[in-house]
This record gives sequence, structure tokens and C-alpha cells, in this order.
Amino acid sequence: MKTIIIKDKKFTELFSEQELKDIVTLCAQKIKRTINDTENLVLIGVLNGGIPFMNDIAFSLPGNITIDYVRAVSYGDNTYSSGKVELLLDTQLDLRGKDVLIVDDIIDTGRTAKFLKNHFISKGAGSVRLCCLFYKKGTLVEEPEYFGSYIGDDFIVGYGLDYAQKGRNLKNILKLSD
Ligand code: 5GP
Ligand code: MG
Repeated sequence: MKTIIIKDKKFTELFSEQELKDIVTLCAQKIKRTINDTENLVLIGVLNGGIPFMNDIAFSLPGNITIDYVRAVSYGDNTYSSGKVELLLDTQLDLRGKDVLIVDDIIDTGRTAKFLKNHFISKGAGSVRLCCLFYKKGTLVEEPEYFGSYIGDDFIVGYGLDYAQKGRNLKNILKLSD
């Protein structure tokens, strides 16, 4: 079993590089099948964790899409949510009437997603959909329109996801083990 140490914690592989690629590809195909007006589409990636996934999704879509980023934090350097979402960087785009697709790494409690959805609606977006790579099936949100895979209640790292800012460059997904 593949195991690594990041700072003070041990992580073991949950999805191999190939399994991760398959999850991303399937998710991208679903988006491609269901979004037809790419001219009106604005992909908004959630920094920092959502960026590798955002890039892979963006490159798999045809047409002239618009891309921007926001930065939201809820975990700090911990392995559990602080319970409060902070928007550290907002988009400067005019979202009025646009079809926004939020692209994030993972939904846990759903607070970040809910916060961002409301935020873009208040900026006048015509529609706001959510795409996340992993979904922990929290209780606060309705199911995201697109997601790669359910996962259990594990804390994971890799492919953008960090533990205390480390592990984002890993090409597989690892979970915290005891
Ligand atoms: P939520 O607001 O849904 O509770 O948390 C969403 C954000 O918390 C994610 O976008 C991600 O940045 C962070 N997060 C949630 N679960 C994990 C996890 O298992 N690992 C890492 N590295 N970050 C997580
Ligand atoms: Mg995130």
C-alpha cells in the first residue's frame, strides 16, 4: 500500500493516478454532454484546491468559455472545517445573465458551495451550477449538479488538495490514516 508522511501525519492511497484520471474524464464528459451554450458559460475555479480539476475540465470543453477564480477558505491549516467561510478574492467579471459553473475540489459540509452560489446569484448570474471532484455528502447542500466521486468522511490530499499547504502536487489521492 502506498503511504506517505506529510508533516506530522500519515496518508495512504485512496485513488491511484489512473483511477483519478478516469474519475475526472467521466465528470468532464458529463459536463460536455449537458452544457450547450458555452459562449455564455463562465467557469469559476475555487483557489487553491480546485485549480488542477478546473484546468482539466476547461481543456475538455469546446467553444469560447470564460474562466476566472475566487479564493475561499474554511479549513485553514487543519483537517476539519472551521465552520465559517471567508472570501479572500472575488471575481471582477460582470456575471449578469451568465451561466456560472463553480469548479471546486471537494464538498464537505457544503458551506463553501452554498456561500459561493448565493454570492454569484447576488451578482446577477442567470444560473449557478456546481461541479466538484469529490463529494462527502454533507447535510447542508443539495447534491452538486456535477461531481466526480463520492468519498467517505476521510480527509484527503493530492491533485490540488492540501494538508497545511503540502501535497497539492501529488498525482494520486491519499487519505489520512491513523
Ligand atoms: P465545506 O465548506 O464544504 O465544508 O468545505 C469545502 C472546502 O474545504 C473544500 O473546497 C476544501 O478546500 C476543504 N476541504 C474539505 N474537505 C477536505 C479534505 O478532505 N481535504 C482537503 N485537503 N480539503 C478539504
Ligand atoms: Mg476548496
